[in-house]
Amino acid sequence: MNSTTNQALNQQIHMELESSYLYLALSAYYDSKDLPGFAHWMREQSREEYGHAMRIFDFLLTRGAEVTLDALGKPAPEFGCPTKAFDQVLEHERSVTQAIHRLYEAAVAEGDHATSVELQWFIQEQVEEEKSAEDVAAQLRLGGSEPLGLLIIDRQLAERE
Ligand code: MG
Repeated sequence: MNSTTNQALNQQIHMELESSYLYLALSAYYDSKDLPGFAHWMREQSREEYGHAMRIFDFLLTRGAEVTLDALGKPAPEFGCPTKAFDQVLEHERSVTQAIHRLYEAAVAEGDHATSVELQWFIQEQVEEEKSAEDVAAQLRLGGSEPLGLLIIDRQLAERE
């Protein structure tokens, strides 16, 4: 594997782990606000992001490429209100999508077919990630400013598997 691609994939592992860390912090935040459904949703999201990081980790090892782990940044100490906090998810997932698209374009330009195919899974996954974040953000726009609306959304998010 080309060293630029290898480095870029290591950066993507880092981005996925930071996503996992951000959602873990958000899970604790929602728990502290007595919204266990939101807390559960974020915890599941955090677990999924860890899975994304591990998928790239395993891909690098399988290809005989180098894995380099970097330090994780501290998540934001303050998330504002429950609706604002959720906006961070959508914003964050959009930036992850852009990063994956850039990675994919570089892999294609490099003629690294195996990495291109691996990244196609991530491109599709990001469509799902953005949709699920958008769905919750839309519900919050409708009912998130009222305590009852928040409680109804919280019940729904508790059902995430
Ligand atoms: Mg991810």
